[in-house]
Amino acid sequence: MLTRTEGIVLKSFPFGEADLIVTYLTRDYGLLSVFAKSPRKIKSRFGSSLEPLTYSKISFLGKEDANLPRLTQSDIIKAFHVLRDELKCFLSISEMLEMSIRFLPEKEPNFKAFKLLLNTLMRLESDCSNKLYYLYYKIRFLEITGYLPKFDACGRCGANGNGNRHFYVSHGSIMCKRCIDNREDSIIMTEGILKFYKSLLKWSLSNINRIRAPEYFISEVNNIINSHIAYIAGPQKSFNFIRMLT
Ligand SMILES: [Zn+2]
Repeated sequence: MLTRTEGIVLKSFPFGEADLIVTYLTRDYGLLSVFAKSPRKIKSRFGSSLEPLTYSKISFLGKEDANLPRLTQSDIIKAFHVLRDELKCFLSISEMLEMSIRFLPEKEPNFKAFKLLLNTLMRLESDCSNKLYYLYYKIRFLEITGYLPKFDACGRCGANGNGNRHFYVSHGSIMCKRCIDNREDSIIMTEGILKFYKSLLKWSLSNINRIRAPEYFISEVNNIINSHIAYIAGPQKSFNFIRMLT
């Protein structure tokens, strides 16, 4: 059966002499890996459409439950080559792509995750040095996938978190005094940083370029979010950015 959809290339991996295994985040089928025959043999438009970040219309052949459907067509809608050529931006974008690979189940449609990635890449294309875009993406992605850290109430008893700024990475949440004795392991946020984080959740992607925040607010929230992501990804799943650059 021939199936059509749109997808953004998250990674491509050489297979045999000239073939590739390409992993997409697709509009209709979520995370999807396909087999591409001979794109590495000749420099072709087909081959260049399989570069990471490329957004294309694709067709693939294979039964619904086939492990690796075969990619039969790929027409570029947007190449995002500006983002690929800016190494500094591409490293941060690689973290975004890696989140999809790590946290989305295969072949489970997730239109929100697809739209978030596509819209964020569109925004980054005109301003990839704005660190808020990357932070905003991570937070929204965690929200969509149900992994958002909990800052409003105690992660164990649900007690109102008013004024509680002790975040525990191992619980993905703030914890009240009754539920946890040892406060040494917590990350203590300042009131300003917690407020900034909460305000980020209320903004939409299209307004991010209007937010002015002190650099250390962004880096503090980013550190907390990165620790949270690293914890839920687990030790065996440490991110591997190098693979994406080769
Ligand atoms: Zn509690």
